[in-house]
Order: sequence, then C-alpha cells, then structure tokens
Amino acid sequence: MDDRMFRAAMGKFATGVTVITSELDGDVHGMTANAFMSVSLDPKLILISVDEKARMKEVINQSGKFTVNILSGEQKEMSMIFAGQIKEDRDVEFETFEGLPVIENSLVSLACDVYQTQDAGDHTLFIGEVLNLNVQDGEPLAFYEGKYKQMT
Ligand code: FAD
Ligand code: NAD
Repeated sequence: MDDRMFRAAMGKFATGVTVITSELDGDVHGMTANAFMSVSLDPKLILISVDEKARMKEVINQSGKFTVNILSGEQKEMSMIFAGQIKEDRDVEFETFEGLPVIENSLVSLACDVYQTQDAGDHTLFIGEVLNLNVQDGEPLAFYEGKYKQMT
C-alpha cells in the first residue's frame, strides 16, 4: 500500500484542527495538528501524535508541557501559519494560561503536563494530563479530504 492511498483513506475521517503550543527558554513554538483525541476521564488525559521530524517533538520533550488549542472556524489562518502553509513569517500574539502560551480566541485551550510518551513508527504519541482548560462558544474549523471546511 502506498503512502498516498493511506493518506487519502485517513483523510476520509473528518476532524477538527488544533494548534499545539509549547515554550522552551522563552521561545514559543506552535504546530498545527489534527491527530488529537480524548483518552481518560480519571485522570483527565488527552493524546497528540507528533512526527519524529517535527521541531515540536524536541520542544515538548524538553519542556514537559504543552497546550492544545482547538481552532474555531475563524482561525483557518492560524492553522495555515502553524502548518507552514503561509511562507512569510507572521507575528502571532499569545496569551498566557496556567503559565503556558495559548492562541487567543480558540474554542478550547487545554494546558497539559506530559503524562506518558510512546514512540510509534515515525511519530511520537504524547499523552497529556489536563491541568486546566478554557472554553469559548463558536463553530469549529474542520479538516476533511486534505481541505479545510466550515461547519456552517
Ligand atoms: P515548523 O515547521 O518549524 O513550524 C511550523 C510553522 O509554525 C512554521 O511556519 C513556523 O514559522 C510557525 N511558527 C512556529 N512558532 C511560531 C511563533 N511563535 N510565531 C509565529 N509562527 C510560528 N503534523 C504532526 O506531526 N501531527 C499532526 O497531527 C499533524 N496534523 C496536521 C493537520 C493539518 C490540518 C495540517 C495542515 C498539518 C498537520 N501536521 C501534523 C503537519 C504539521 O503541522 C507541519 O508539518 C508543521 O510544519 C510541523 O511543525 P514543526 O514543529 O516541525 O515546526
Ligand atoms: P493529507 O491529505 O496528507 O492528510 C489526510 C490525512 O492523512 C490526515 O488527516 C492524517 O490523518 C493523515 N496523514 C497525513 N500525513 C500523515 C503523516 N505524515 N503521518 C500520519 N498520518 C498522516 O493532507 P494535507 O493537506 O496534504 O496535509 C498537509 C501536510 O500536513 C502534509 O505534509 C501532511 O503529511 C501533514 N499532516 C500530517 C499529519 C500527521 O503527521 N499526523 C496529519 C495531517 C497532515
């Protein structure tokens, strides 16, 4: 099975879009991710999957903390910035929540400590324990068949 067929099949699973943020030595790093899921209620755990080549892997490994920002339908540009789909550098303002950088106006921000790490093929699974969260009203940004979609 070739990579294209696998990606096309996985792209049939409609998801939301998140930006993972973390901070190391005063520098904030962000990365767009749709490999995100809720894992456990007691304790409150979530999971993200990060490519072994992504800079984010080392940032989280070293900081031991990260935030998951679930994007609203009005934040497609944020997803594009943090996926490297907009080539020129953009200044992004971050808010601070639980001492961690978050993307303002996200639907949800989850501040997490790394609870467990598992290498899986060419990705690393980071399970995060949710320390605190912020929720706002709004419609989500969606991703389906490799394209951004609005729910309304
Ligand atoms: P870089 O590629 O260096 O950074 C990402 C981009 O963010 C760069 O353009 C950089 O300039 C910008 N950036 C970072 N920090 C800042 C800052 N402080 N201020 C302004 N700009 C900044 N990959 C995965 O591993 N797992 C996934 O689940 C996943 N899901 C994705 C879902 C979608 C919808 C898309 C479009 C991509 C997804 N990717 C995923 C791919 C991933 O987003 C890109 O490969 C990304 O470029 C990897 O980031 P990096 O950590 O290597 O850092
Ligand atoms: P796409 O058509 O490549 O993605 C469709 C689906 O395939 C994604 O939702 C994801 O489930 C899966 N997928 C894609 N690349 C993957 C990877 N390297 N590892 C594991 N699963 C993967 O969408 P696109 O618009 O071409 O994506 C833009 C870029 O973002 C591509 O370079 C793609 O590889 C990357 N991406 C990576 C992941 C990931 O690492 N989990 C997820 C989505 C997109």
